Amino acid sequence: MMQKHEIEAIKLALATPKRIAIIPHRNPDGDAMGSTLGLYHILKQLQHDVVVIAPNEFPDFLAWLPESEKVMVFERSFDKCKAILEKAELLFTLDFNALHRTGDQMENLLKTLTATSVMIDHHQAPDGYATYTFSDTAYGSTCQMVYDFIYQLGYENLLNKTVATCLYTGIVTDSGGFRFPKTTSATHKCVADLIDRGINNSEIHNLLFDDSTYNRLLLLGKALQNLKILNEYKTSYITLSQDELNEFGHQKGDTEGIVNYGLSIKGIDFTAIFIENKEEGIVKISFRSQGAFDVNQFARTHFEGGGHINAAGGKSFLPLEETVQKFIAILASEKK
Ligand code: 5GP
Ligand code: MN
Repeated sequence: MMQKHEIEAIKLALATPKRIAIIPHRNPDGDAMGSTLGLYHILKQLQHDVVVIAPNEFPDFLAWLPESEKVMVFERSFDKCKAILEKAELLFTLDFNALHRTGDQMENLLKTLTATSVMIDHHQAPDGYATYTFSDTAYGSTCQMVYDFIYQLGYENLLNKTVATCLYTGIVTDSGGFRFPKTTSATHKCVADLIDRGINNSEIHNLLFDDSTYNRLLLLGKALQNLKILNEYKTSYITLSQDELNEFGHQKGDTEGIVNYGLSIKGIDFTAIFIENKEEGIVKISFRSQGAFDVNQFARTHFEGGGHINAAGGKSFLPLEETVQKFIAILASEKK
């Protein structure tokens, strides 16, 4: 939780209309978009001049979120976003722990800004760049933190169906549908409150999860064909090459969630997906584990990444095949 004097200071800052920018991480997911838009809809009701600025495009499966069409994209509208950020009197950075998670160009700009800033995030090892830091890894989602933040500020009367819809989105996506270990009674109490505030939770699930294209299912089929098991390390992994992505007309967001299939096999407690990105010249990697195996540490140590104990990501500048070989070599030297 935030300290009382910090909450008072933020309340004071919000007592008069301000120019406010809210920033999610690069490649924003349901929690990043849900938390930024949820807070946006609160601050708008308080008559602030507020805009969400995403580092890059957000996936289509989140495009139904209320007023997502007003989200500005830094990579697409660089000059406009730069001007807004430089004029902002208050900055919120949500769902990330270090400015580099916004990408090089945006990080360089954010570093020059002197406006008061508030970080709300549930990742490990937060950088100390913000004026006020609300960081707690006990939370399963930033959306649930924003929910508590709203109550701490005494703005719960503004928590309408629109805000609640945004927050529910991040809670349900980051908790894997209420199944990951950080799902607590507080999570369910929060969701009960959101339902009482009018959200249509069943419809939100449909919008989020029953929105596949045929090509996306075919890509999932290809990914499952590529799934390999390393029984001796209780590990599985999936690869998707750029050619395979192209074959199925890959769209942003199509690979979301595929990594979890590798963990659904009996006896497997660690899995990874390696996704080739020729345009960026990298292999983007997602890691998932069950139990004590710390994939945040694994991603940090070996693949320039990070995240949480059971869900993390990273990248490799080696070709796809060599990246997989490096992965297997690391397993051989350190896993069990
Ligand atoms: P995902 O695999 O779903 O992209 O990410 C899983 C978790 O790891 C998320 O919390 C995400 O923010 C974090 N994560 C993913 N990629 C990176 C990365 O390259 N660096 C860091 N520090 N965290 C990452
Ligand atoms: Mn999150």
